[in-house]
This record gives sequence, C-alpha cells and structure tokens, in this order.
Amino acid sequence: MTIFLCTACGTSYPDAPAAPAECPICEDERQYVPAAGQGWIAREALAGGHRNAWRLHEPGLFSIHTVPSFAINQRAFLIQSPQGNVLWDCVPLFDGATETLLRALGGVQAIAISHPHYYATMQDWASAFGATIHLHAADRQWVMRPDPAIRFWEGDRLEILPDVTLLRAGGHFAGGTVLHWTGTADGKGALLPGDIVQVTPGARRVSFMWSYPNMMPLSAATVRDIAARLVPLEYDRIYGAFTHQDVPKDGPAMVASSARRYIELLEQP
Ligand SMILES: [Zn+2]
Ligand SMILES: [Zn+2]
Repeated sequence: MTIFLCTACGTSYPDAPAAPAECPICEDERQYVPAAGQGWIAREALAGGHRNAWRLHEPGLFSIHTVPSFAINQRAFLIQSPQGNVLWDCVPLFDGATETLLRALGGVQAIAISHPHYYATMQDWASAFGATIHLHAADRQWVMRPDPAIRFWEGDRLEILPDVTLLRAGGHFAGGTVLHWTGTADGKGALLPGDIVQVTPGARRVSFMWSYPNMMPLSAATVRDIAARLVPLEYDRIYGAFTHQDVPKDGPAMVASSARRYIELLEQP
C-alpha cells in the first residue's frame, strides 16, 4: 500500500495499492491537469530528489519550501510563539530532516491552511507532532485524505493562539483563510494570506483571483468584500505564498490600493 501524491498540485491521497484515477483538485477549474496528463509520485520517492529549504524572515518566523521545485511549489511557514508553534500552509515533502528540525524548534502544536491547494501532506506533519489541523468547514469537500487530526471551524474568525488568528476572507475558495500574527517582535504584526490575497512578483501589489493558473478573476463585489474584511487588522508585512513575494512594509495600504485598482478595472465600461 502506498500514499500517492499528485505531481501537479501536491495533494496526498489515502493509502492504496495504486494511484488514483484522477485528482479532483486538479480537475477543478482553479487548478489544471497538465497537458501531458496527470502524474503521481509515491510519498517516499519524493524525498529522493528533493529537500526542504528554510529561511528565517524575522524573529519567530521561518518559511519552508521544497527544492528543486515540486508541484505548485508554495511555501509553508513556522510561527514560533510563547504559547506554541503554528505551521501555516503546508508543502508536500515531509522528510526526516524537516521533522528533526521542527522537533528541535519545539514541534508543531497547530496547523492551519489557507485553502485546499495547500493541504498537501498535512496529515503526516500533524501525526508526527500530535498537532491539530484547522481547516475552514466551507472547504470540507476538498479534503482528499480524511484524518482524525482535522478540525473544521466555522464562521469568520478563529483564534488558535493568543497572537495567531485565522480569518475567513473567501474569494479563491469559499473557506479561503488568511492568518493574522500579532506576536511579531516589533509589535507591528504580519499577514500571511496564502493564495487568498496573492502578493505579486514585484512585492508592491497584491491580487485576488478565482483561478490563478487559468487566469479567471473574482467579481468586483467579492474583491471589495475581501478587502473590507482585512481593514480592521493591524499589520505591517505581508508574507505571500511564494518565495520572495513578501510586502516588506505598509501592507494595509498596499492591499487597499491594489483592491481599488482591481475593482476599477472590473467595473470600467
Ligand atoms: Zn492534483
Ligand atoms: Zn490556490
């Protein structure tokens, strides 16, 4: 029996004698099936040619991403807080080095994930540390590998630690979640928005899409709603889903101006 991962999106599937016939995450219009067809890799084979690279962004915040690139190639983040460590989003490769390093840093008490594209192998990370996985209930149908560690939350706000709060912003997925970290060393706070608010390559704008690979926008009303939900939050930096896509300061102004321009384009005659 083998745990297979989709090589296009990195989602893991339940233990089975053969790879699944299709990946519903990739069949959905917010992802894509590669032109060459759906590919699969056994979980244990992934570590053979890949490793996880770590970066310390500021005190208490590491990113973890896989090299060479695999699947969507998003980053995961480890937030260290006095009350426990939180893994934000997930990457498919969970190898011995990653487990050993995380253990040395105090383990992982909670896992939270922005949306189904980054569920990856969250089940393996959770089981190594006895962590709870917090997923928004509105995306329940996209869990391909059920696990007792998963706890579905409802509503618009969930405080998982005193300085780490999840907010449902919707948009890209109905349960699309962003993480607000108020425990930064300088007290200014940071926003970690996954794909829900996408930091663009120049790191001076953010965007909001229904489907990134298929370039399908959201409605003006939805973008307005996402931006409005973020207005009450106090933060400075924004750490996006991909390497080097971080807004270094003035995040709220960047989100507001990006949303304003996006809505203007959608509403022009
Ligand atoms: Zn897939
Ligand atoms: Zn996504």
